[in-house]
Amino acid sequence: MFRRIARLSALVLTLLLGLPGLFALAPQTVAAEIAPLERTWDYRWGDSPVAPDGTPLWTQTSEEGAWIAIDFPSNPPGRGGRGNIWYRVTLPPLDWRDPALFIFSVDTIVEVYLDGQLLYHHGTFSAEGRGEFAGWPWHLIPLPRDAGGKKLYFRVFSDYKDIGLWGELLLGERIDLLQRILAQSVERLITSGFSLLIAILALIFAPLERDRRGFGAIALFSFASGSMLLSGAQAALLIVNRPLLWEFLGAGGYYLIPVAIALLLEQWLRPDRSWLLVMIRRLHLAYLFGALALAGLGWISLANTYPVFDLLFAITLPIMMLPALRLARAGTLEQQLILAAVALLALLLMLDMAVAHNLLPWTQVPLNWGVLAFSLAIVLISVRHFASTQRELALLNTSLETQVAARTAELERLAQAEATRARLLEMENRKAAELEALIARVQSCDRLAETEQVLSDSLPGLCTPLPGAFYRVGTAVDNSEPRATWGQPVPDLRESLAAPTPGPESARDSVNTDTLETSRVWPLRLRYEHPQLGRTDFGLLLVRSPADGTATESIHTIHLWWRILERAVEKINLALSLLALQEELRDLSYQDGLTGLKNRRFLDQVLAREIALAERQRSSLSLVICDVDHFKQFNDNHGHAAGDAALRQVATQLSQAFRNTDLVCRFGGEEFVVLMPGASLTSARERGETLRTMVAAEPIQFQDQILRPVTLSVGIASYPEPVTNPSTLMVRADQALYRAKQAGRDRVELAG
Ligand code: GH3
Ligand code: MG
Ligand code: MG
Repeated sequence: MFRRIARLSALVLTLLLGLPGLFALAPQTVAAEIAPLERTWDYRWGDSPVAPDGTPLWTQTSEEGAWIAIDFPSNPPGRGGRGNIWYRVTLPPLDWRDPALFIFSVDTIVEVYLDGQLLYHHGTFSAEGRGEFAGWPWHLIPLPRDAGGKKLYFRVFSDYKDIGLWGELLLGERIDLLQRILAQSVERLITSGFSLLIAILALIFAPLERDRRGFGAIALFSFASGSMLLSGAQAALLIVNRPLLWEFLGAGGYYLIPVAIALLLEQWLRPDRSWLLVMIRRLHLAYLFGALALAGLGWISLANTYPVFDLLFAITLPIMMLPALRLARAGTLEQQLILAAVALLALLLMLDMAVAHNLLPWTQVPLNWGVLAFSLAIVLISVRHFASTQRELALLNTSLETQVAARTAELERLAQAEATRARLLEMENRKAAELEALIARVQSCDRLAETEQVLSDSLPGLCTPLPGAFYRVGTAVDNSEPRATWGQPVPDLRESLAAPTPGPESARDSVNTDTLETSRVWPLRLRYEHPQLGRTDFGLLLVRSPADGTATESIHTIHLWWRILERAVEKINLALSLLALQEELRDLSYQDGLTGLKNRRFLDQVLAREIALAERQRSSLSLVICDVDHFKQFNDNHGHAAGDAALRQVATQLSQAFRNTDLVCRFGGEEFVVLMPGASLTSARERGETLRTMVAAEPIQFQDQILRPVTLSVGIASYPEPVTNPSTLMVRADQALYRAKQAGRDRVELAG
């Protein structure tokens, strides 16, 4: 509401700024010709008898003794409840073209006579010489130019406390006096118009606002003071010449003022203090309606309601304003402003009251200043409200903007997080598929050694986009060079092995996520469970952490990567362990544990097949049986462990002495059998000799000792010559061996 008032008031304010000029200009142009009527007056209580022609006799007879001189024609002594009085004055010379007498006011009705003729009247006299109150207008009585020096008679009736003329008495050119009236009214007219405008605006917008009572009070105050001022403006009569009507309006406005003040203060004071204000408000409201109604009905004179009201107001005003004094200190700036304006108007009203009751000499109290102050206060507050509302709006705008920006950023962040999540999920799935393929390839391997190639081929795909390298460990070959590298930059094995870093094993014990995020390279150990050797290293996988060099990757991503790789390595290790177990099981069944040579079971299988093959193809097949001489003795002399070392050394020499295509087996104990497909007796005997001399020449190395070489006795049988039945090869070779033993050992004996 204040906002709207502010806008409309801006217009009025500009108008007001022009006011002082108008005020200054108007009276000066006319003041020179006007003169106050400063003459001694006469008065005479009672009413004049009337001649048959209607002329009041007191205007004609010169009963000089009956008239008493008085300075000003008002309230002469000795009234004694009388309502009728006559005043007279001798007019000065009238040097005007169209002279007129201006009287500010008369209590309360009057007839003016000159030369026994009725010149002017206000109100109506009854046959008894009485009359009803007809308002307190100003009077402009036209005078004949020759009236100078003549006596002017005033027949006055008043049932009011005052009787007679009141305020200014001026003589002058009629038009000048009229102009003066106009000029003096301009201030009041504009101020009251301004005040009424504010009242109307407040009234229009009050229903739309939260603080309805407050605006209602402002509207009421503005309306009351505005109508009071308007009715008091002298020019009002020139607009509507109904003095009594204006009087009613003025009285209404005047009587409303305490009601509005009470209403205004009520809401500013605590409810427990405002009951008094409510009482006062109701009292004044009752007085307002009562007085106006009774006066309107003609039961009492409106004039007489003033002194009672004044008395009432003089009592209630301090009562209302005293508690409000607290607001002068503690109230808001707006409250203080309004309060100051109200207080100013109240003070002026009190002064006006004092003048009206002759406590102060007559002067026109500038009530409009108080009203103007109030109106300006309202406009000022409205403008302030408008400005602060604009500020708040701007603030709200910026805060909304930042809120929207924050919300957008949050949404973007969420969308990004969602995209990352989807990307990671997709990557996780892809990696799971790749891992599955890798595991399948590992499982399809026959031997553990074959997986090295598989891993070299598949690990880069599995680890990409993280750069890394795959090293082989646990073999006799040089492992310092990686078997496979991928991505850039390639992790440096030496660098990462220098610092203790979390590997799958240690990570499983305690996953130190702090180290994970900061460590540049993750080492992952590829290892398997060997059935006999236990946990055995196979390879080392080094991967550069995604956090390395990129600040964009979230902790979540890093953990996901770590989890994927850790699980992959676990699965690979499981597959390797399975493979190792299979390989071990397979080897265990055909292999001699001590020497690594094929065992007798294997020989039994192969022998039958080789015999059949040789028989069918009529190809040569030789069988060589070797037995370590006096091995019991060796064991006894050097211990069982040295005996084992000797057996292993003999086995190695056996492998060296025969071809790859020959099958070297440990037959049991210290006996070995060599199956030589395609070998004739001669070539078999050569090999046998070579072996025998080799063994006899090579001392046994056991730990740091060098022991006397062992010797071998060898028995050889060959098909088809001299053994024609290949099934007897074994028996015949054994017989040859027996003969070698008999012949003194360390020799080769042939079957047949
Ligand atoms: P000969 O010259 O008549 O063959 O005499 P020998 O002592 O070698 O023969 P004998 O059959 O009396 O003894 C075989 C010995 O070989 C008995 C056993 O202690 C030893 N031997 C068998 N298998 C192993 C083995 O795996 N390790 C060790 N250290 N000794 C073994
Ligand atoms: Mg033996
Ligand atoms: Mg032996």
